[in-house]
Amino acid sequence: MTESITGEAVRQRDGRTFGLTVGAAGGVVTPEDLERIARTARDFSIPLVKLTTGQRIALLGIAEDDLPGVALALGLGGFDSPGPCLKYVTACPGTSSCRWGMQDALALAAALEARFAGRSLPGKLKIGVSGCTRNCTSCFSRDLGLIGTARGWTVLFGGNGGRRPRSADLAGTNLDGAQALDLADRLVGHYAEYAQAEERTARFVERVGFESIRTDVLRFAPYLPLE
Ligand code: SF4
Repeated sequence: MTESITGEAVRQRDGRTFGLTVGAAGGVVTPEDLERIARTARDFSIPLVKLTTGQRIALLGIAEDDLPGVALALGLGGFDSPGPCLKYVTACPGTSSCRWGMQDALALAAALEARFAGRSLPGKLKIGVSGCTRNCTSCFSRDLGLIGTARGWTVLFGGNGGRRPRSADLAGTNLDGAQALDLADRLVGHYAEYAQAEERTARFVERVGFESIRTDVLRFAPYLPLE
């Protein structure tokens, strides 16, 4: 797991120490991952280890001189800021264990992370995947949300839960896994090409209008019905 999505060291409010966040899609960890994190926190006297809203694990209060050693101990490739990119993919257990699950949320989350990790984007990208319409990962407030139903995946785009919340627009329904991934790719690709620097998907959709997303993106997806 300790293959971080960003590996980005963030300076803390004390101005001296840094935080590093590690994690994998859907917050899935192994006992070995947890042992490595615990050992690293102990060895480097890291004062605070915390679960994040993105289902990752933050190690906070790392001395600047310790950053290379901590990154190495965690198995990170580096800790420089990569710029705007995929921040996280959250997911519920879906059919892997939840009695209500309709689709395999963890598998789709892993596929989405593999597809988007490391891609340079205009703004942060946060993805949520829920295995059923109870929507435990709040997909309507994610840049990209995917919700499982008995008939496949529903894909949402342009949500935000921050300072200016926005409920995502419906981009597609009843898609199989490959179609959902393809639609995610088309939407993120369009956003990457036409959004302004630092513009999140919510503000992008508000600026261009979802009708233009329909015309420029959804119309070309062969598995979506023509309206
Ligand atoms: S969204 Fe559905 S499948 Fe996922 S944890 Fe919640 S109830 Fe279970």
